[in-house]
Amino acid sequence: MTTAHVTCPLCEATCGLEVTLDANQQVTRVKGDDNDVFSRGYICPKGASLGALHHDPDRLTAPLLKRDGEFVEVSWQEAYDEIDRRLPPILEEHGRDAVAVYAGNPGVHNIALTLYGRVLYKALGTKNFYSATSVDQLPKHYSSGTMFGDPLAIPVPDLDRTRHLLILGANPLVSNGSLMTAPDIRGRLRGIRERGGKIVVVDPRRTRTAQFADEHHAIRPGTDALLLFALVNVLFAENRARPRKLEAHLNGLDDVRELARPFTPEAVAQRTGIDADEIRRLARELAEADNAVVYGRIGTTTQTFGTVASWLVDVLNVLTGNLDEPGGAMFPLAACQPTGNRRPFAVGRWHSRVRGLPEVVGELPVATLADEIETPGDGQVRALITVSGNPCLSTPNAGRLSEALKGLDFMISVDVYLNETSRQADVILPGPSPLERPHFDLAFYQLSVRNVANWTPATLPSKLPQEWETMLRLTGIVTGQGPEADVEALDDFVAADVARRAKLEVTRDRTGPARLVDLMLRAGPYDVTLADLEAAPHGMDFGPLKPRIPEVLCTASGRIELAPATIVADVPRLREELAKPEDDGLVLIGRRHLSSNNSWMHNLKPLVRGGNRCTVLIHPADATRLGLTDGALASVTSRAGKLEVPVEVTDEVRPGVVSIPHGWGHDADGSRTRVARANPGVNSNLVADETLLDVPSGTTVLNGIPVEVAPV
Ligand code: SF4
Repeated sequence: MTTAHVTCPLCEATCGLEVTLDANQQVTRVKGDDNDVFSRGYICPKGASLGALHHDPDRLTAPLLKRDGEFVEVSWQEAYDEIDRRLPPILEEHGRDAVAVYAGNPGVHNIALTLYGRVLYKALGTKNFYSATSVDQLPKHYSSGTMFGDPLAIPVPDLDRTRHLLILGANPLVSNGSLMTAPDIRGRLRGIRERGGKIVVVDPRRTRTAQFADEHHAIRPGTDALLLFALVNVLFAENRARPRKLEAHLNGLDDVRELARPFTPEAVAQRTGIDADEIRRLARELAEADNAVVYGRIGTTTQTFGTVASWLVDVLNVLTGNLDEPGGAMFPLAACQPTGNRRPFAVGRWHSRVRGLPEVVGELPVATLADEIETPGDGQVRALITVSGNPCLSTPNAGRLSEALKGLDFMISVDVYLNETSRQADVILPGPSPLERPHFDLAFYQLSVRNVANWTPATLPSKLPQEWETMLRLTGIVTGQGPEADVEALDDFVAADVARRAKLEVTRDRTGPARLVDLMLRAGPYDVTLADLEAAPHGMDFGPLKPRIPEVLCTASGRIELAPATIVADVPRLREELAKPEDDGLVLIGRRHLSSNNSWMHNLKPLVRGGNRCTVLIHPADATRLGLTDGALASVTSRAGKLEVPVEVTDEVRPGVVSIPHGWGHDADGSRTRVARANPGVNSNLVADETLLDVPSGTTVLNGIPVEVAPV
C-alpha cells in the first residue's frame, strides 16, 4: 500500500486528499487529508470519485482518428501527421481567424493546459477564441476589469471573519464555491453563525444554501440588478453610504448616487418580488453589521443584466466600507503572480464578424460561435480546436452548435473522453488522468478566501504524453515547424519568456509546468520556491487575506472606478426594463447538484446513482394550472428549441419559475461514455437562447429564459 497526498483538481475548492493505492497501483481509497492546511479533511462525493475517474475504462488511452466516419486508434505520430496535413492549409488559405478555439472549464483545473494552452492560442493568433468563461462568469471579469483595472482582481468574501453574508444567485453548499475558493463551505458558514453573524440568501429557488441560511428571499429571476440598485438607493437615501478609508481611492461616488435614484424599493418591489420594507431592512442590516459582504454568483452573472449586477455587488461592498476590509470582500494575494507589466483593462479590441459582439478578456462570447461557423464569407470559421470542452452540452443553443460543427472542414479535440462534442472531431488527442499529472491551482489561489498554495506531483506514471507536450506539438504545427518541432526547445523558449517578464534567470533543472510554476513562485510575494512546496505535501499557509488597496488597482486613474463608463452605459436599458409591463410567463433557471460537475463526470457510477436528478422543478400552483403531475413528462419550449423532461412538483421554486440542471443530455450517437449514456438526462442548453444576452459582456442568459411548459 502507498499513500499520496494530492490536491483535488475537480472543482474550485482545492481540497487536499489522501489517495491510497495497492501494490497493483489500484486506487483503494480516497479520503480528505486531515492535515491539509486549507481543507482540514473535507471531501465531497466528486473528490471521493477520483479513483473511479482514474480507472474509468471509457477514458481514452490512445489518439483517435476518424477514418470513413469511424474512429480508429492511431499512434501519436499518425495523429500529428494528419493534423499537419489538414490544419496548416486552412490557415494559409483562409487566415488565422478561420481556426477557432473552445477551451472548456476542466482546462482551468489543469496546470499543463492553463500554462501551455495559452502558448498554443497565442501562436495560433485567432480572434475566434471562445471558452466556458463566456458561459457563466465573464460579467464578473468585466466589472472587476472596469472598476479595479484588472479582470482577475475579483474580491472574494472573507468567509472566516465576516459576520454578515448576503448571497445572491449562488448555492455554495452544493457548488462548493465558485469565484470563491473555500473548502468546507458548510463549516465556514457555520463559523459565521458561531460568531453571532447572519447569512441571507436571495435566490428564486430554496436551495440547500437557502435552507441553511437565516433568511431566504425568493427573487424573480433576472431582477438582481434592480434589487441591488434599490439597496444602493437606500444607503444613499438614509445617509448610510460610508466607504470610509476607500473614499481616498474612489472616483464616481456621486455618479452612483444619481444612477440609483430611480431604483427606489417601491419602484423595484413588484418586479423583484421582494417587499419594499424588506429591501430597506436588508440594506440597513448590511450597513449596520460590524463587517459584512455581498457575494453574487451564477444567478447574477448569467442573466440579462449580468454585468450591471456584478458591478453593483462590489458597489455595495464599497459603499458599506467593506471592500478590502477583514470580514468583507477582499483581494487574495496568490503565491504565483502573473509576470510582466499589468495593463489597464480594455474591452472591444475586436468584434465578432457576424453579430458584432465585443471581445472581453481576449475572447468572444461563445453565444456566437455557431454564427461564425455557419455564415460564409471572409473570416468564416472552418476549423475548431476544443480543449477539455464539451460545448455541444455546455453552451447556449447547443442543438444549433452541434449541427454547425458538421460544416467544419477540420476539428481537433484534446479530451479524455469521446463525448458529445469530441465525437464530431477528426482527431482526438487524449491526456493523462488527474493522478498521472502534476497539479497546481494557478487560477483558484487567486480567488482563495485564505492565502495558501499546494503543489501535487504526479502520483502515477502516464502512458500518455503530458498535455503541455501536446500543446507544444500543436504549437509547432500551427507555426509551420511541423509535427517534428523540437518540443524541448519550444519549452525553453516559453520558460525564457516567463523568466524575462519576471526579471529572473531561466532555470534548467526542470521542464514543463513545474519550471514555470517555480519561476512564478520566485517572482511572487512569499519568498518560496517549488522545492519549498514539494517539501510541504499538505500545502503552505500564508495566512488570512490582507488589505491590498491601492496596490491591487490597475485602472488608468489608479483609483477604484465606482461608475465605469461602459457599465453606466447599460443602466438606461435597466431603467427601460423597469418601465416595461410585467410579463407573467414562465422562466427557466438552472441548478447544480453536489455529485455533478458540469457535463464531464457523469460517466462515473458513484456520481450518477440514486435515480434521475435531471427533472424540471415546477411550483404546485403552476403545475395545477398547466395540468402537470409529478413524474409525468413535460415539454419545455423556448425560441431556441424544445426538450422533454420528467416533472418534479415542488414549492422549492417560486411560482413562475421552472428549473432544470445543466450538463446532461448524454444520448448522442457516437459518444463512448457508457455510464453517462445509461443515465443521459436532457440537455438544458437545447432551450438556452443564444440571442438573449447580457449586453456589455455578451454572456448568454441561462437564468430567466422565457419558456412554455406543457404536458407531453
Ligand atoms: S469540494 Fe471540490 S475540490 Fe473538494 S473534494 Fe469536492 S470536488 Fe474536490
